[in-house]
Amino acid sequence: MVTLYTNGHIFDGNGWIEAFAVDGSTIVATGRTTALIQQYPKATIVDLNHHFVSAGFNDSHMHVLNYGYGLASLQLAEHTQSLKQLQQYVRDEIHHRNIPSGRWVRGRGWNHDFFEDDQRFPTRYDLDQISTDHPICLVRACGHACVVNSLALELIHVTKDTPQPNGGAFDVDEHGEPLGIFRENGLDIVYQALPKPSIDELEEMLENAMHHLNAYGVTSAQTDDFVVFHGLDYHDVITAYQNLEAKGKMSVRIYEQNHFTNPHDLSQFLSEGRNTGIGSFWFKYGPLKMLGDGSLGARTAYLSQPYADDGSTHGIAVYDQTTFNQMIDLAHRSGMQIAIHAIGDAIMDRIMNAMESSMTSHPRCDARHGIIHCQIMRPDQYQRMKALDLHAYIQSIFLDYDIGIVNQRVDPLLAASSYGFHTMQRIGLHVSNGSDCPVELPNGMVGIQCAVTRKSVHHDYGVYRPEEAMSVADAIRSFTIEGAHASFEEGIKGLIAPGYLADFVIWSDDPFMVEPQQIHTIHPLQTYVNGTCVYGQNHIDNQ
Ligand SMILES: [Zn+2]
Repeated sequence: MVTLYTNGHIFDGNGWIEAFAVDGSTIVATGRTTALIQQYPKATIVDLNHHFVSAGFNDSHMHVLNYGYGLASLQLAEHTQSLKQLQQYVRDEIHHRNIPSGRWVRGRGWNHDFFEDDQRFPTRYDLDQISTDHPICLVRACGHACVVNSLALELIHVTKDTPQPNGGAFDVDEHGEPLGIFRENGLDIVYQALPKPSIDELEEMLENAMHHLNAYGVTSAQTDDFVVFHGLDYHDVITAYQNLEAKGKMSVRIYEQNHFTNPHDLSQFLSEGRNTGIGSFWFKYGPLKMLGDGSLGARTAYLSQPYADDGSTHGIAVYDQTTFNQMIDLAHRSGMQIAIHAIGDAIMDRIMNAMESSMTSHPRCDARHGIIHCQIMRPDQYQRMKALDLHAYIQSIFLDYDIGIVNQRVDPLLAASSYGFHTMQRIGLHVSNGSDCPVELPNGMVGIQCAVTRKSVHHDYGVYRPEEAMSVADAIRSFTIEGAHASFEEGIKGLIAPGYLADFVIWSDDPFMVEPQQIHTIHPLQTYVNGTCVYGQNHIDNQ
């Protein structure tokens, strides 16, 4: 059965169309409304009521499982006015979420400074009043302290005979009995003992994360999920996705950025017959993913010169040149795509050295290797990316925060050649966009506003390198067709065109029409994946 979508502001990825026809999971025709009605006289007609429509967003680098994990823990920040309120909230949530006895209850965000009744840290005994059947771990808002209940203490084997940890502590009473409070490195005792999630729990987290992504208009995600929990086997993650697919519960198309930290695990993955491009429309193996360095905010991005606001450090490189060479060469020679996290210019050098050497000794056409983040860059590095034909996986939403720190953290000359998104496009790189969620919310419209305005959405930091602004059309393409290019799917995804998958979004407003600083307020009314509405109400007429 064919459905005709008409009377909208429909951006097909290149220009404007009047209408498009969907048959099942596929867009079968686009063009003028009258012609399509003639072509499909029996079609159901949907009036888009002048709303803006684009292809579904493709978040080209994020962490779906981490996002789902965060959503699964209780958000305590708004329920911390008193210890009693905190206890009641957690008790209610255990009930509402139907958390079975024995399963860990995790939450984050309490702050005893805001308690009106008793301004002290909660103890195991306070948490025992919530439940003695569930192990409970509640992390303070700062992330540097947590409290657990008596059952949790029992499960992690902490008693009065346990030695105090280096660089941290757990609190004890006058008899030396642990009170359930852990500080600084003491938290590792708790975290290492937390059980890895079961496949059922992984499925729940992934499914929930995908629903939240749909609410932001995301229909495809390129995601790094293998290195999330202590002791988690990557096979479990793959199984969870495949189970969801078998149950028809996928609502986002996944291109897995297969994260490995050593050649042994990567070799095993490859020896199992897994490689880039293998999979279905719902779950597909993508590139080898590695971490190169840290972040600009934490001064751990690895720079070629000392930090301007801390001369004692260049940042941290996760791997040396030899390890990069080994991993990248193994993946490249095996026909695998490669995408590596690099924020500082010095780590980009190291990664590009390794890629160049592999690509020179084993030339391969259209490998589509790339760099995730591409933030602090020297002018010569743009040209080197072009020479190696590397894909730039950017997160323009990072400008929201980074504009406020980049000029302090790095030398002005280096800051003046960084975050060069327009330059990347101008010299012909493929530039896809994402959120690195849960680092940022997967809100593409916020990313588009940052890319277009080169200003922070939430702070008044002024304009940063306005010459690097993207046009609205290019910013939308970075979230659609360019993401599809990153996964070799530009022939089926990222445009509203005949033969393409029916993944599209009907938005509240048109980013081409609103004031640029209002783009972040645009939200999906409906999100469609595979021709099916996965988010929003069935009728959009009165919105
Ligand atoms: Zn990431």
